[in-house]
Amino acid sequence: SSGCTLLRDPRYNKGLAFTERERDAHYLRGLLPPAVFNQELQEKRLMHNLRQYEVPLHRYMAMMDLQERNERLFYKILIDNVEELLPVVYTPTVGEACQKYGSIFRRPQGLYISLKEKGKVLEVLKNWPEKNIQVIVVTDGERILGLGDLGCQGMGIPVGKLSLYTALGGVRPSSCLPITIDVGTNNEKLLNDEFYIGLRQKRATGKEYAELLDEFMRAVKQNYGEKVLIQFEDFANHNAFDLLAKYSSSHLVFNDDIQGTASVVLAGLLASLKLVRGTLADHTFLFLGAGEAGTGIAELIALEISKQTKAPVEETRQKIWLVDSKGLIVSSRLGSLQHFKKPWAHEHEPVKELVDAIKAIKPTVLIGSSGVGKTFTKEVIEAMASLNKKPLILALSNPTSQSECTAEEAYTWSKGQAIFASGSPFDPVEYEGKVFVPGQANNAYIFPGFGLGLIISGAIRVRDEMLLAASEALAARVSQENYDKGLIYPPFSNIRQISAHIAANVAAKAYELGLASHLPRPKDLVKYAESCMYSPGYRNYR
Ligand code: NAP
Ligand code: MN
Repeated sequence: SSGCTLLRDPRYNKGLAFTERERDAHYLRGLLPPAVFNQELQEKRLMHNLRQYEVPLHRYMAMMDLQERNERLFYKILIDNVEELLPVVYTPTVGEACQKYGSIFRRPQGLYISLKEKGKVLEVLKNWPEKNIQVIVVTDGERILGLGDLGCQGMGIPVGKLSLYTALGGVRPSSCLPITIDVGTNNEKLLNDEFYIGLRQKRATGKEYAELLDEFMRAVKQNYGEKVLIQFEDFANHNAFDLLAKYSSSHLVFNDDIQGTASVVLAGLLASLKLVRGTLADHTFLFLGAGEAGTGIAELIALEISKQTKAPVEETRQKIWLVDSKGLIVSSRLGSLQHFKKPWAHEHEPVKELVDAIKAIKPTVLIGSSGVGKTFTKEVIEAMASLNKKPLILALSNPTSQSECTAEEAYTWSKGQAIFASGSPFDPVEYEGKVFVPGQANNAYIFPGFGLGLIISGAIRVRDEMLLAASEALAARVSQENYDKGLIYPPFSNIRQISAHIAANVAAKAYELGLASHLPRPKDLVKYAESCMYSPGYRNYR
């Protein structure tokens, strides 16, 4: 093919890395300056340039430009510098990018399906140039991170998530499809913004919403078959639970906000048992926040205890308590509770304040998942520390400003007793001469490996047992060296290896449950997972 075509297609472009022979063979002479760089040198140069930008959004835009210019270099850089670049291509910077999507938008990076396309969704899918799709991440933009309704501008989220599927989980970029479903927005600011890229109307709800989603789900299955993974991302909780329940028996669906969060948090809890001894069943759990994250985690904990003890899940739920904006969830509130909260309405008198709930319930584990910052006050942490020698405290709310407490507060207020992890990253803390390293319960530990496991086994349905398998695989990757620092998650630098182990465990479960269609089952699933992973090194064009 002609030189220009190679340079313009991000999948083939290598920039200065085209060799002398390639330059001759593909009519590239003169289209490039004389120097030949290898990928390592290109990486060094780009990282240097990237670090010059002081504004995180500029780093994000530089990364997006690179993705559109030279895809392999984009993934090479992301994989080699994952700890540094994750906050750039994903949260928190991606949130800011979504907020400003209208003005930074250059080129569509995914598929837009709006109410205008009702009745034609299958045709829209066929417009996407790639035919062999393995993972779709789809949002309707109603609850983007902790930022609320960003409508059509939520597209940054599926794009970012899928780049992590490739970088961390090794799923081929060409088989990833980001989709935003636009049913309008209730964000007045966007509706009045002349640069807003989405439908200028209030959100469709009820039947109109359900019909578009149903058409979408049917079209996806018709076009890509039974084995395409559909990940629901950042839907508001009034739709998220229903969509997951509705489609989990007919499609391969996964909700990262509910199930991915649950799996990564359960992994941290399983790992922490090495530090606090005992089994999961010995613990009592209290949540602040009973939405997608809180109830999703609670249910997976109950399932894991049930799996370990053989007790029915109705019974294992009894040691898990949740507090929402109205106080402790108790049976006298049953009549007015949303359905996903009902299993957690245990027998107890009403309690309004978190501190009082701690004193009444005496939890060993406290989990913050309300999205509201600074709610684990000194009094709260001290109450946990007075009840437990080693209280486990997870402050999951994002971004950093919404964290229930900082790592430093958790360690100092508990006088070094707390085992702490959080949703947003915190630096290590020195307290009385000892260095504590807080872990980050980042969903990116789980979903890339989880998706890879589904793909390599050809799974056709997601089951909770697979989530447990993912949690157990992640917990098993925490080393003694990590534990010695107080960590309950392994370092991110090994994420591709971690993903391969998660994928293997998830795939093994899919085979065990008879839900795997890729036959025969590979003998060594870890090796097989590794061998399937996309690697971003350049190919030679002869
Ligand atoms: P959500 O579905 O909207 O749920 C929020 C819950 O918090 C609701 O139950 C709400 O109560 C409750 N709440 C709100 N304000 C409260 C207050 N002042 N006191 C007590 N409860 C309050 O949100 P979500 O998807 O679960 O996400 C919640 C947070 O978790 C977000 O900050 C998100 O970033 C974080 N998160 C972290 C991770 C991670 O660390 N890996 C993963 C996912 C989510 P009502 O039901 O009464 O309104
Ligand atoms: Mn999400």
